Amino acid sequence: MDATGPMSTVLVVDDSPDNIRLLGNILVRDYRVLFATGGREAMESALTNLPDLVLLDVMMPEIDGFSVCAWLRGQEATRGIPVILVTAMNDIEAETRGFDAGAVDFLNKPVNPAAVRARVAAHLALKRQRDDLERANAQLQEEIRQRKRLEAQLREQAEFDALTGLPNRKLFHDRLQQAVLMGERRQRNFALLFVDLDRFKWVNDTLGHDAGDVLLVEVAKRLKGVVRKSDTVARLGGDEFTIILSDILHESMAELVARKVLEQLSTPFILKSQEVAISGSVGISLYPTDGGTPHELSRNADSAMYLAKQSGRNAYHFFSEEIDRQAHRRLTLEGEMRLAFQKDEFFIDYQPKVRLTTGCLTGLEALVRWDHPREGVLFPKQFIPLAEGTGMITEVGAWVLRTACSDAVCWIEEGFANLKLAVNLSSLQFRDGEKLVQMVEETLNETGFPARNLELEITESMMLGNTEQASTTLNRLRELGISIAMDDFGTGFSSLALLKSLPIQVIKIDRSFVRDLSPDGRNSAFTSAILSMARQLGLDVVVEGVESDQQIQILKEQGGDEVQGFFFSPPLGKDSFLDLLHGRLPLGGSDMHILPV
Ligand code: C2E
Ligand code: CA
Ligand code: CA
Repeated sequence: MDATGPMSTVLVVDDSPDNIRLLGNILVRDYRVLFATGGREAMESALTNLPDLVLLDVMMPEIDGFSVCAWLRGQEATRGIPVILVTAMNDIEAETRGFDAGAVDFLNKPVNPAAVRARVAAHLALKRQRDDLERANAQLQEEIRQRKRLEAQLREQAEFDALTGLPNRKLFHDRLQQAVLMGERRQRNFALLFVDLDRFKWVNDTLGHDAGDVLLVEVAKRLKGVVRKSDTVARLGGDEFTIILSDILHESMAELVARKVLEQLSTPFILKSQEVAISGSVGISLYPTDGGTPHELSRNADSAMYLAKQSGRNAYHFFSEEIDRQAHRRLTLEGEMRLAFQKDEFFIDYQPKVRLTTGCLTGLEALVRWDHPREGVLFPKQFIPLAEGTGMITEVGAWVLRTACSDAVCWIEEGFANLKLAVNLSSLQFRDGEKLVQMVEETLNETGFPARNLELEITESMMLGNTEQASTTLNRLRELGISIAMDDFGTGFSSLALLKSLPIQVIKIDRSFVRDLSPDGRNSAFTSAILSMARQLGLDVVVEGVESDQQIQILKEQGGDEVQGFFFSPPLGKDSFLDLLHGRLPLGGSDMHILPV
């Protein structure tokens, strides 16, 4: 019984007026009592009056108490109302059915007034408690939702810059700390870039602060556009931005981003409907070379940025002098490479290939060089990657093929009819198969070089990604009559499946396997295995980088076919190669003689 709360309502259901009167008398002192004399009436009353408790007779005509109880449980509105069933004495079966129907308790007829009052009071109290709890819970849920919303808002304000929406100084420091931890744990390298706008103060002073704000927002957008999703672009304050480039494999990746940043910043901005040109300065520090802590890395990126500003702005600078020197050399070389064509600075050396069994010269490989005005002769390793980075490789590659074909066509016409010319392809040339095939076809037509004398060298990595497309390109080259060689074999996946599925005629064993070729060495087993495998697949094998007599002997025993290397000859200029062909220049190796091919 609750003295303080509003009076509870109890619905008493019984088809016998006597029983109703009896129960009514028991309860009327403490509760508001409603009556119903049948199942249907009970359901209607429960729905409209929503009593706090129902005392329900089981035995009623038409609809019995179980059905009414089950129905009340089934209704959303009445589901929570406790139902006490009134049954005949000791009707165990009725009790089981009653519980199944969802009754909370039983009273036996004839009813004991004290028991009725006690049970009703107990269940009403329970219900009140449950209702209170539910209310409290709902309120709590709402409070939690609100608190979370607020928290998120606060966090955003605490970790993100309100103007640009970028991570702020605090979050930047967290991320940098994380990057260092990741770097330590998983040996990952990363780069830190400090970016500073060169003319921000000028914009603020002459166009006003709102223009300055627009500029910062636009800069933030552009900076985010040049990095991957996993990288962090943050604003430290003012016109200072930072970028954390995670997982970089080489400093040139950081350099590439720095260049893109500068490009973005020097593209004009529209401020107050006028075009405004600014530029930026970028300082780069690398983990772990330039520091192992967030503090060191930040300090060094900052001082590199200062150097960039000093060096005339719109520039990037690595903290490490050595890396910076290399980076700038690369940049200069890239620029000069464009002019190198016009100035005729590229040339080709030819390295002979020899058949071991006969000592015959079988062919030659074209190797490009760049006679640089300042640096002297540069080898492919020093400029092919740059050419690939700028896309110049397409032109360089086409030039090499054309030049080599027009050189070698003369030698073939002079009588060396079986001479095979090998030319290296870059994976970049391979990307556009259509264009490559067209270029090769044109070159053959224009130089008159016989396709059957041409061999194009590819590497396994070129086949990566889209093997099907690569295979199509190779097949089209094959159809022209050209043969295909797999270069540097053994350094990649050395996939037999790949060799089998592609139209390849030759494999070239990489010189790293030849270097320590001794009778009982591991490499000896490798070359021997490759040679026998190649025989089974019907492939020709060229062994590269042969330098000594001992290597020759071993390869001979293993049934080696063609070899290429300093032992016979280094790559030679065009004129020297001609001398070699005509016997005016001896081929290395005591028992080797150049025989007409
Ligand atoms: P590669 O195709 O494996 O070429 C063989 C390289 O090994 C050449 O270096 C050659 O000079 C060197 N070599 C030959 N015999 C020996 C030897 O007995 N001992 C040693 N230690 N080295 C030997 P190079 O000319 O510096 O070329 C390096 C790479 O540059 C070539 O490797 C090739 O992948 C690439 N390359 C050369 N010319 C071109 C080209 O026109 N286009 C493309 N895309 N790549 C080229
Ligand atoms: Ca090659
Ligand atoms: Ca090679």
